[in-house]
Order: sequence, then structure tokens, then C-alpha cells
Amino acid sequence: MRQATLSTDLINSYYLPVPSKSKSVNQTYLDNRVTKSQRGTKRTRSQRARERLQTKKHLVGLARELHEGELADKLDRCHSRLSVLTCGRHIARIIPNFTCEFRLCPDCGRRRSRKLQTKYLPLMKAFVLHNKVTPVHLVLTQTHRKESRKESAARIRKSFTKLTRRSLWKQYFKGGTWSLELTKDKNGFHHAHLHIIGFRRKFFDIELLRDEWFAVTGDSHVLHLKPILDLAAGLQEVVKYVSKPLDIRRFGAADLKEFLGLKNMRMFGTFGEFRDFCKGFEPSDNDNATSELESLARDLVEGCACPQCSEPLFDLRLSKGELPEFYERIESSPPRSP
Ligand SMILES: [Zn+2]
Ligand SMILES: [Zn+2]
Repeated sequence: MRQATLSTDLINSYYLPVPSKSKSVNQTYLDNRVTKSQRGTKRTRSQRARERLQTKKHLVGLARELHEGELADKLDRCHSRLSVLTCGRHIARIIPNFTCEFRLCPDCGRRRSRKLQTKYLPLMKAFVLHNKVTPVHLVLTQTHRKESRKESAARIRKSFTKLTRRSLWKQYFKGGTWSLELTKDKNGFHHAHLHIIGFRRKFFDIELLRDEWFAVTGDSHVLHLKPILDLAAGLQEVVKYVSKPLDIRRFGAADLKEFLGLKNMRMFGTFGEFRDFCKGFEPSDNDNATSELESLARDLVEGCACPQCSEPLFDLRLSKGELPEFYERIESSPPRSP
């Protein structure tokens, strides 16, 4: 019985949207300029599924324009048919027919960021408990220059490396993770931001950090800091830049071409003592590392009880265009009486 409760909790935390409590704190705290392009207002699952479809259609069009036929075909095929294990009101699991693994693919990006969350959340919780540190979300920005995405990304990464070597930083931060966000404004300038989850040893004056950032960048003192009240929500917020590394709605064929040239740019990483901590704890660095939750969902088959309402699960075959409608139906259906 205990097992069943645990499973339900796990599934809930995995498939249900994160409570909006922590989000509202984030939204008022952050400077709008920083993440407006990617944050938007809170959207439903059906809206997000619809946006993913549009993004993909746009990408396929750009790939065809560049005569990247193979890429266009792969993107087109990715998640085009879905096997959905559902009770009719909840979704226990979605298995796609094919995953393209292209870094800008919104469906594959979602899977990738979920994998990062599954891998890093337990590590972060353990690190915080073990070291009695406080997690904070720090956003570092830099001045705009006429430069390529690659140059912009390299510049901010270099500044960050310098920052982490300074004594003030080490005094206050024990380690953490970084993710890179790249956007482009309507004037064609690339904006690189680093989103850091930093494990803070003790409270400090933000102005001191501002001076340090100015010292390593030479021209930028713009940064934002906010507390992380809920590690799961905080991690989810920063890994979204891994799933959505660029604002694809502003993408033209030239942007895609430039991106295809950036093959191995890293978008996420760890630093400081947290990096060593992860090395000691990681069972495996590859995709085979599955969470308890993933293996749990994997064990479910047609006829099993829905972990959320105990109604029998059945297998529903959908084409990609039908998924948003299915979400919509779930969103509008009243909750089952107990
Ligand atoms: Zn894909
Ligand atoms: Zn159900």
C-alpha cells in the first residue's frame, strides 16, 4: 500500500505541472528583459504542445530552404506518431515512434531537459543537505556586441570561468550548475545569459558580486539574483534553456545555418565542489541512467491501473497533430469523483 502511494506521488510530480507558487515569485523578481522571450505567460499543456508543433514546422521549412533534406525528414518524422498510455484523463506515458535528437527539436529538447532534471535533482538535494548551503538562481548578462552566437557564448563562459576563480566567489559559492541562454534581438544582436544555480555558503551583498562581474567582464555589471524556494521548480526553470536553447520563432535560414556550424556547444554544466560531488555520485553519464520514476512508468502496460485515479490504462495511437486536442480534452474534463 505504501508502495502505491509513493508511486502515485512520483508520477504526479513527474507529469503534473509544477505548482505556480514558486513561479510567481520568480516572475516579479527577474528583470523582464532577461527572459521575457522564453518565459511568456503560463500556458496549458495543449498550448505548449501546439507551440512545439509550430516550432517544428518552422524548423522543417528552414531546413528545406537550406536544402538540408535529411534533417528536414528527420524532424518531420520525430514524434509524428505517438503511443499514449492513458486512462482517458491522465497520461501515464507517451512513446514516440522516432526521436531525431536534433538539438533544436522542441520534442527532443523536452526529453533532454527531463533527463537532466531526473539526474540532477537528487544530487542537488543531497548536496544542499550535506553541505548546509542555500540554492539561489543567479543570471549573468553581458553587454551586446556585434558578434556571432559562438563568440557571444564563448565570451560569457570565459568571464564566468574567471569569476569562479576569484576569492570572493569561492568565499560565497560552493558550486552549482550553469546553463546558457542565447537569444537574438530585432537589431540582430546576440544576447547570451548564464543561468546559474549557485549553492551559497552564506548571505552576501549583491553589490559586491556586481563589482566582481564588472571586474571580469570589463564592461558589464548586470546580474540578477533570486532565492530558490523549491529546488525542483528552480532546476526546471534553468534546464528549459537546454531544451529551448534559442528563440526559434525569430529564426531565419541563416540562423539555422549558423547553428548547424556550432555542433558541440555546451549548454549546461556543473562547477565548483558540486562538479566533484556529481562525479562521485553519478551512476552513469549516459542515457541509460534511468530514475526510479522512469522505470516505474516503463513497467506500466495496457490494463494496469492509472497511478492517479486507478482506472484501467489503455493504449491510444495519436498522430502528432492530435496530441494538443487530446490535452485539451483532458484539461476540460471535470475531475473524477472519488
Ligand atoms: Zn526530435
Ligand atoms: Zn487516471
